[in-house]
Amino acid sequence: MSLKEILVKNNISQNTAEDFYKYYELLVDWNEKINLTAITEEDEVATKHFLDSLNAARGIVTDGMKVIDVGTGAGFPGLPVKIAYPGIKLTLVDSLQKRIGFLNQVIDTLALDGVETIHSRAEELGVNKQYREKYDLCVSRAVANLTTLCELCMPFVKVGGLFVSLKGPKAPEELELAAKAIELLGGKLEKIETYDVSDTDLNHNIVVIKKISHTPTKYPRKAPKPAKEPLY
Ligand code: SAM
Repeated sequence: MSLKEILVKNNISQNTAEDFYKYYELLVDWNEKINLTAITEEDEVATKHFLDSLNAARGIVTDGMKVIDVGTGAGFPGLPVKIAYPGIKLTLVDSLQKRIGFLNQVIDTLALDGVETIHSRAEELGVNKQYREKYDLCVSRAVANLTTLCELCMPFVKVGGLFVSLKGPKAPEELELAAKAIELLGGKLEKIETYDVSDTDLNHNIVVIKKISHTPTKYPRKAPKPAKEPLY
């Protein structure tokens, strides 16, 4: 099946599927010059990138929400969420400038409003007052183990907001190790749920953490501490 057929079969409108196709074309084109993804077949990009990304938003995202995607790479999961839910305000963060160049091209081509891209490490942006505790929702996929990720992501979330992490099969073990960090950073586990990635035989996990109190100002620590000395 083509990318558009797969998306339409999964309840994406024809117009939105056209936008996803333009994103796909740019992804494979830029992937020739800079390393963006190992997945380039139409059906796999549709399922493993686009549809998988939307699992970070289903039942969570509402119009007007401020969303930040930390370590977005080629835009996952944040950009597919913005394409499917255009009413959100989105910030995409990545520490690699070349990937930011790609994201800007996609945003331009699809004429997306209300999206900003930031070239920064999360450790630096998370202490910046303009971004700290300013988001209703922080999403992230495939950036670090859950403990490190909590330190990178929780500082962006407002009290009352959510941090949503898309994880592979090891999510339950990662969650156990992250229990202390979640509490230290002002979070509380809301749920962990296994889901099928549509039209594949993959099972992934969504971890949803609610921010219940302010993150102490000493977090995030400077790089490389969150990765090298996780808060176990
Ligand atoms: N989230 C995307 C996905 O699911 O396809 C990209 C995953 S890729 C494996 C990890 C990305 O996180 C890379 O683009 C990398 O540059 C970025 N990254 C890693 N550590 C980061 C940090 N501390 N701050 C910001 N970006 C980071």
